[in-house]
Amino acid sequence: MLVPQINIVIPLYNESEVFHLLVERLNQLMDSSELSIEVILVDDGSKDNTALQMVGLAQSDSRYKAVLLSRNFGHQLALSAGYSVVNASEAVFVIDGDLQDPPELLDSFYSKLKEGYEVVYGVRRGRKEHWMLKAAFSLFYVIIKRIAYIDLPRDTGDFALLSRRVVDVLNTMPEQSRYLRGMRAWVGFKQTGLPYERPARAEGETKYRLRKRLSFALNGIFSFSEAPVKWISSLGMGSIGLAVLYFIYTLIKRFFTDEVQPGFTGLLFVIILFSGVQLVCIGILGEYVLRIFFQVKGRPLYIIKDVVSKNKSEEAR
Ligand code: UDP
Ligand code: MG
Repeated sequence: MLVPQINIVIPLYNESEVFHLLVERLNQLMDSSELSIEVILVDDGSKDNTALQMVGLAQSDSRYKAVLLSRNFGHQLALSAGYSVVNASEAVFVIDGDLQDPPELLDSFYSKLKEGYEVVYGVRRGRKEHWMLKAAFSLFYVIIKRIAYIDLPRDTGDFALLSRRVVDVLNTMPEQSRYLRGMRAWVGFKQTGLPYERPARAEGETKYRLRKRLSFALNGIFSFSEAPVKWISSLGMGSIGLAVLYFIYTLIKRFFTDEVQPGFTGLLFVIILFSGVQLVCIGILGEYVLRIFFQVKGRPLYIIKDVVSKNKSEEAR
């Protein structure tokens, strides 16, 4: 295929159940769309036969390319690997493999791009998650809105159409702790949101367990905010102030009244409280130090084992 106008990048991890549905929908889209499209499927070290299905497809259909990672690197890195092999002239469309991001919306995203926007992201109108998860998401957005130095739009995911230029910029950002939707907001350019109804997963189950979600959220916060470190200083100042006040209070009591301070329990309480506070503070510092640690090692973000496409195998022959 000549250089396509659009790449669709899709990270997949153990998605063999939904794979045929995904391909069906993509084929329909490509058959009916005016745009020339090449799909980049990224296998994030699946343990089922997702990779096999992918390779088979890429070998028989030149509109698909399969990128195989050497192991499971996680959604964000799989997506980054996909970004690194794009070849589209105009834009890159990012969707999840479970059809929660309807591929058919490409045309409406594309028309926004034609209006001059370089980032068009999907905004989830109806979330189908459990109410507790929804509450946690809301809390997360409140926090990040207040403390982060990016303007992260609410209820957005990685579902977006990015101009080729924006993807090129993202590819130059070497950070290890990747929170792509934050990085996308950070790069600037003209951005806009497009509301859509987010359906439930077509097949299979979510690959994001609670712990993974939590560490993802922490990445969002610690990669885009210095507020937590600043809090530590304020907290330290606050407790010094408190201690001084308490000291003055005991002195006054000692010299101007006959009362003896029954200080022992109070003391214990203060010690325990502030040891706890100190541990939390060290933990917060640790989050930043960890990110520095990983960055300084300078390891590659992901390892691409193989790239399979019909053209390539024909070239090889
Ligand atoms: N995914 C991935 N690597 C992982 C976990 C997930 O490539 O380690 C892919 C997954 O196959 C899907 C997308 O990322 O295409 C979003 O994952 P999922 O649907 O499980 O997340 P949710 O929609 O529940 O947040
Ligand atoms: Mg999903």
